[in-house]
Amino acid sequence: MFKPKAIYFEKEIIKYPLGKELMDKYEDIPKIEIENHNNIEEMRKNSNKEFSNMKRNLIIGVRKTHKFVENHKISNYLVPYTSSGCIAACMYCYLVCNYNKCAYLRLFVNREKMLEKIIKTAEKEEKELTFEIGSNSDLILENTITNNLVWTIENFKNSKKGKLTFPTKFDMVSPILPLDHQGKIIVRMSVNPEEIINRVEFGTSRLSNRIEAINELKEAGYEVGILIAPIILVDNWKKLYGDLIQILEKELTEKVKKDVFFEFIFMTYSYIHTKINEEAFPNAINLYNKEMMTVRGRGKYCYKKEIKDEAEQFIREEMHKYFPKNRIVYVV
Ligand code: SF4
Repeated sequence: MFKPKAIYFEKEIIKYPLGKELMDKYEDIPKIEIENHNNIEEMRKNSNKEFSNMKRNLIIGVRKTHKFVENHKISNYLVPYTSSGCIAACMYCYLVCNYNKCAYLRLFVNREKMLEKIIKTAEKEEKELTFEIGSNSDLILENTITNNLVWTIENFKNSKKGKLTFPTKFDMVSPILPLDHQGKIIVRMSVNPEEIINRVEFGTSRLSNRIEAINELKEAGYEVGILIAPIILVDNWKKLYGDLIQILEKELTEKVKKDVFFEFIFMTYSYIHTKINEEAFPNAINLYNKEMMTVRGRGKYCYKKEIKDEAEQFIREEMHKYFPKNRIVYVV
């Protein structure tokens, strides 16, 4: 159970039921009032070494921007939802885009307004829309603090149209298993070889537990997908990812294997990641590989085309062997 070191809060949060509930829940935790969750001066001044320590705090505010961004992969829109940032520390996390703002977990208490906008948008559109609500955080993890996912599913089930989707790297799915979700929720479990989870995805759930969670979600009637992401081309990547696909084939239930879909995402990395990781995790693996990576935009790196193409071909061949009938939605 996550126990925050301190709560940084905007004072308007107590006008919202969830804001009040969280302030009561963390009654005995030191509190610091802030003007704006986007700009906390004392966090901004911290050194990179403080990265993990900063993640022990909880920031609670009111979300002001509600702009949906069009998306064409799994969903129609990426939606800013009830949280941003995370208390885990995957070394490649793209939320570390701006260290002073995005790394730690921020909770937004005006959930009614956010869900209402989704429902209204879904209902006025002719076609069936899917909304990605988990692109800024991990909602299974957040749910252990706020119960927001349970609240969301219960309040979305009677909407006339639309679906919600989110990815996760966590196995704490039991609160949502008994819910009447009406088939409107798509959960996408993100997996990696156990060795990579251990060395890179600090604070997330073990591979076997994630697989068990996928099986349980499917049993509870949820639509499920698997994200193999991010694919990290460490020295023995072929063995690791080949084994991972075989483990999935062996451990997933027949019910899951019948129609689970897959997404594959190769890791991108950045100069900011390198700087933070070398100071915050000095003994950890260096994910930046000069020989295999190339520049993709300012301060950003991705695998060179020929290297990525080779890995993609390998993965597609393995998938063809073990999951010949399952849909690969995309490889990027
Ligand atoms: S679990 Fe997801 S949101 Fe949290 S640090 Fe890892 S990649 Fe980022």
